[in-house]
This record gives sequence, C-alpha cells and structure tokens, in this order.
Amino acid sequence: MVIVMKSNYTPQQLEEVVKTVQAHGLTPHVSHGVETTIVAVIGECHTIPSDPFEALEGVESVKRISQPFKLASRQFLPENSVFPIDGFRIGGEEIVLIAGPCSVESRDQILKTAHAVRQAGANALRGGVFKPRTSPYSFQGLGEEGLEYLAEARQQTGMPIVVEITSQTQLDLMLKYVDVFQVGARNMQNFNLLRALGEIRKPVLLKRGMSATIEELLMSAEYILAGGNHHVILCERGIRTFESSTRNTTDINAIPVLKRLTHLPVILDPSHATGHAEYVPAIARAAIAAGADGLIVEVHPDPAKAFSDGKQSLKPETFAEMVRQVKAIAEAMGRRIAPVHSLVQVA
Ligand code: PEP
Ligand code: MN
Repeated sequence: MVIVMKSNYTPQQLEEVVKTVQAHGLTPHVSHGVETTIVAVIGECHTIPSDPFEALEGVESVKRISQPFKLASRQFLPENSVFPIDGFRIGGEEIVLIAGPCSVESRDQILKTAHAVRQAGANALRGGVFKPRTSPYSFQGLGEEGLEYLAEARQQTGMPIVVEITSQTQLDLMLKYVDVFQVGARNMQNFNLLRALGEIRKPVLLKRGMSATIEELLMSAEYILAGGNHHVILCERGIRTFESSTRNTTDINAIPVLKRLTHLPVILDPSHATGHAEYVPAIARAAIAAGADGLIVEVHPDPAKAFSDGKQSLKPETFAEMVRQVKAIAEAMGRRIAPVHSLVQVA
C-alpha cells in the first residue's frame, strides 16, 4: 500500500499517517520527492482496509500495489513518468539520444566528440571518468580532470553530461559537474550507492546488471525512488548468455516488459549489448521499434585508438547515419527525436 500526501499537507498530518500505519503493526517508509511526499507501507497489508488511511487529513490517495517494486510500478503511476534533463524531456513522445566515448581520454578527444555527436543529433553527452575495468592495469579514467573537460564540452555544446559513478565517495565531487548520474551494470546492486543517489535530486541512469533479472533491476530502481529521487531512467545493456559471438545478448524483450511493468523511461545501450560497432545500428533501430525512449551509444573520433571499448564505438559519421535511420523508425512509431541544443559557444 502506498499513501500519497496532498501537496499542502502539514507535518502534523504526516505524523498522524505514520502513527496510524504503525498502529496497524505495519512499517511506514516516508519518501519526500520534489513534487510529492509518499508513505510506502511495508508489511502484510492486503487484509487491512484502506479506508482508515484515506480518511486521514492531508492524504490525497491510497494505492494498493501487488508488485514488490512499489514506487517503480505502473500500478502506482499508470502514466509514463516524463521529466526534464536540461533542454529536453525523457519518457514522453520524444526519443532521447545520449552519445559519447566510453572514457574521457583528453580535452581534445571529448570536445571533438561532443561537437560531432551534437551535429549528428545527440541530445546529451556521455563519457566515463571513473571506469569500472576488469583489470586493475587497464585505464581507470581521468577522474576530476575528465569532469572538467566534460564541463567545457557542455559549455560549448549546451548538452548535459552523463557520467558513471562507481562509489558514493565520488558523489560530492561529481555533483559539481554531472547532470545525469549513470550507475553501471557492475553496480546495479551496490545498495549503498543506490541509497546515496536516492538522496540527490539529479536524474539517475540505472543500467541492468549483466546477470540481473528485470525484477531485480526494478528493485534497484526502487532504492533510488524510495529515497525521494523520482527521476530514474532504466537501461537495458545486454545480459550474459551462452552466446559468445557478441559481448552480451540484447534482451530486446526487456523493453516491452519494462514498459508494461513500470512508468519509468527505458533506454537501450546497443554498444555494450553487442560489443561490436558493426551490430550497433541494427540493435539501435530494433530498440526504438520495440518502444525504447532513447539510446546511449559509444562514439569515438578514432575507435582504433580508444583507451576503452574501441571495438564497439562508432565513428561520428556512422553515428550520424544511425541517427538518420533511428529517426525514420521513430516516426514510424509515431514519435520523434528530441531536438538538439543550440550551440552555446563555438570552440
Ligand atoms: C559504460 O557505459 O562504459 C559501461 C561500463 O557500461 P556497463 O556498466 O553497461 O558495462
Ligand atoms: Mn564502455
């Protein structure tokens, strides 16, 4: 059961709701969002009538949710969640394109990529500065230096920046620079990190773990939502299967399944899902045809020289061609690509 408070509720009314929940032997979990305050009722509440809660002052509505992911479920919010990200909205009719290198490698590399992907139609710039690498001897990312280059790229192109966070110790530093926090596949169940991201009020792009079920992904999203951060974007990025001809196997089913189970925006990462630049455009097209709200794609000006994930990175011109194809599919689906940002300052 989830109790939604009215926008003008008083602290006394909230306290009364909390006490009433406790009086029924249940546990209240209060979540203060920007727009709404919600009390999720934890425990066996299916036999308890909702009338005593509905009658309380300050209560807007009481919803019964059978799914274990309460705030993420469509039962809680039947309409799509649509929210702004610096210049565009995600989750609505518009398809959002996030593009950029796997890792920020140098000022020149990120500025060049940022201008190229914006020119091709990207709405946001990606770039990792804390890289989760299988080997401790591989390039680990530029850290704060990389964030400064990304901020410069944002200043020049107007595009918000999407950066992976791998530990909550990076949060204070990243809050100064980052527009969208990416949680990578390896951290999907880093519950302390998820809780920390529930406390902030910037969007979180949550990637599916490589061996995680759809329900586990939604339970991870629930950690962030329960903290009061309602701006969560889900990302399918391929799962591990017995198939070895691609890096991962794109679970295209996850797109319609997630769209049915949750109101949150759902995007797809065809780069990590396939591991080969050659297959990226096909899977990008499939994602939009399946109903995804956007894509996150790795693009590098010289993939052969990339410090990480060069094999799966598109050249800017291939990305531009992919955007043209995706645009046609979006239109066939009755949707459109979000418009690009106006240049703030030419390099
Ligand atoms: C990345 O986006 O570069 C990345 C590490 O992705 P994932 O967490 O999906 O492997
Ligand atoms: Mn990568």
